[in-house]
Amino acid sequence: MIIPEIQLNLSPRTEEAEKVIGFEWAGEEIGNRNKIGGKPDWIQEPDTPKCSCGKEMTFYGQLDSIGDRVILADCGMIYVFVCFDCFQTRSILQSN
Ligand SMILES: [Zn+2]
Repeated sequence: MIIPEIQLNLSPRTEEAEKVIGFEWAGEEIGNRNKIGGKPDWIQEPDTPKCSCGKEMTFYGQLDSIGDRVILADCGMIYVFVCFDCFQTRSILQSN
């Protein structure tokens, strides 16, 4: 199953949150790769997990590094997967 791709845009709620967003040196797209559905934008090799029930899990979304102060290793992302049969979830982190 593939969920249609929905881009997620950052809307900081406070001044403090606004200050956390952004990188001094990373490319423009880094920090803006948040989305639900579509296909994972793997940084490394594809790594779609299998559920403990044996089914391949569905890619639910990916969460990007936020900025120089909240960064997942080297501009990494967290990929979230769900099994639509038993609703177990898995997340995977990849980084440059
Ligand atoms: Zn399952």
